[in-house]
Amino acid sequence: MSAPTGDIGLIGLAVMGQNLILNMDDHGFTVVAYNRTTSKVDDFLAQEAKGTKIQGAHSIEELCSKLKTPRKVMLLVKAGQPVDDFIEQLLPHLEKGDLIIDGGNSHYPDTTRRAKYLEDKGFLFVGTGVSGGEEGARYGPSLMPGGSPQAWPLIKDIFQAVAAKTTDTNEPCCDWVGEGGSGHYVKMVHNGIEYGDMQIMAEAYDIMKNLLGMSYDEMAQTFTEWNKTELDSYLVEITAKVLAFKDTDGKPIVEKIRDAAGQKGTGKWTAISALDLGIPVTLVSEAVFARCLSALKDERVAASKILRGPENVHFSGDKKSFLEDLRQALYAAKIISYAQGFMELRAAGEEYKWKLNFGGIALMWRGGCIIRSAFLRDINNAFKTKPDLKNLLLDPFFTKAIHATLPHYRRVASQSILLGVPVPALTSALSFYDGYRSARVPANLIQAQRDFFGAHSYSTLEKPDVYVHTNWTGTG
Ligand code: NAP
Repeated sequence: MSAPTGDIGLIGLAVMGQNLILNMDDHGFTVVAYNRTTSKVDDFLAQEAKGTKIQGAHSIEELCSKLKTPRKVMLLVKAGQPVDDFIEQLLPHLEKGDLIIDGGNSHYPDTTRRAKYLEDKGFLFVGTGVSGGEEGARYGPSLMPGGSPQAWPLIKDIFQAVAAKTTDTNEPCCDWVGEGGSGHYVKMVHNGIEYGDMQIMAEAYDIMKNLLGMSYDEMAQTFTEWNKTELDSYLVEITAKVLAFKDTDGKPIVEKIRDAAGQKGTGKWTAISALDLGIPVTLVSEAVFARCLSALKDERVAASKILRGPENVHFSGDKKSFLEDLRQALYAAKIISYAQGFMELRAAGEEYKWKLNFGGIALMWRGGCIIRSAFLRDINNAFKTKPDLKNLLLDPFFTKAIHATLPHYRRVASQSILLGVPVPALTSALSFYDGYRSARVPANLIQAQRDFFGAHSYSTLEKPDVYVHTNWTGTG
């Protein structure tokens, strides 16, 4: 039997797997492909992979026998039980030191559990975030790998070759994230931030449409213009295209879409983890709740016939200058959202003992993924200058930027509230900012109330470490 020539095995021939295999092949790596339904292997080899050096396998055993050692097998299958099932099927055909990589959207505690399970048996495990969808997988995804540190030298060349590159510096949007489930954690926060970015754009759209009375073409044009500013990003770019898109009857297709947003859970996981860690990731959490509220379509329709908003109030200011306020508000909210996201990452790193490289994470998000934007270069720079930066808002560049946006931001928030346009993400982020910049917040009253009804005790400004109780009613 000839010596195996496969550089990496890939299990899962749905959209992500097929495209990533073709991408790896483009970069000179020999990939061995396998899928549970093996007819898909034959179809893939006969069609998409025709003329390439991609090899096929009809069993896990055959797949492993075609790989050079230490073997590297990547899973791109449905997250959950299938990943555990494939791990069990692979183990009898692997040797100590071989590596299993899970590139699906797994929840990070599962990845932490799998890494420990496999490391205890002498194998290596990586859970990698893969972002950018089908197009990204084919031509350059953002890759966020974490797990067994000894695995990184084994996959670095392949991962950095196939990953997206930053447009200005040509750096790969892939670096080692950290131990355990950190790769999937970073991907989860990426997705949460994506929820937040989408929500603030939806709020801007609502303001443009219902407060300023703009047409779809005007809105599309505005997003196109915004894409040439600090807001330059993939999501702003596609929003302009989506708003401009007309149905066959010439009407904007967005106007016909049912206003009930779906969700697959990564935003919710980000919010849950933030609550568990005690970190105020308010913008992403509001974005998740806004999707929940949107899904109550029938209830909202019924309520709209009963509950009133402000009456006889109309926007009377200058539309052009208010649009600039709105652009600045979006920029400010984005800065706050990313500051919150990095606060969550920092807290998770401390909690789970992951040595996270924040600048590297910003770099990984600069290209290939849904939240890619020019703005991430500034975040990357902030962490490059000060790797232990406590909060993005305290970086001089971002402090200056947020200060410049605030008058605009406050005008947008107050006008929207006065005129009854719901802006939960924009306003919660602004309130977070006002709380974060306050040396004193009203939590002293809450402490007093807790002590009044529950004798929970409180400490004083003078003696923060000493807890005392007051008999508030003078009885007993
Ligand atoms: P998918 O639809 O999530 O999964 C299909 C693949 O999983 C097929 O290979 C299928 O095999 C296999 N599979 C499903 N159930 C299985 C089971 N019970 N046992 C064994 N194999 C099973 O595929 P995808 O959209 O390409 O995504 C792959 C992974 O990447 C997922 O975790 C997904 O969440 C993640 N991801 C997707 C995107 C995206 O844009 N689609 C982006 C980033 C990450 P059969 O052909 O035999 O059914």
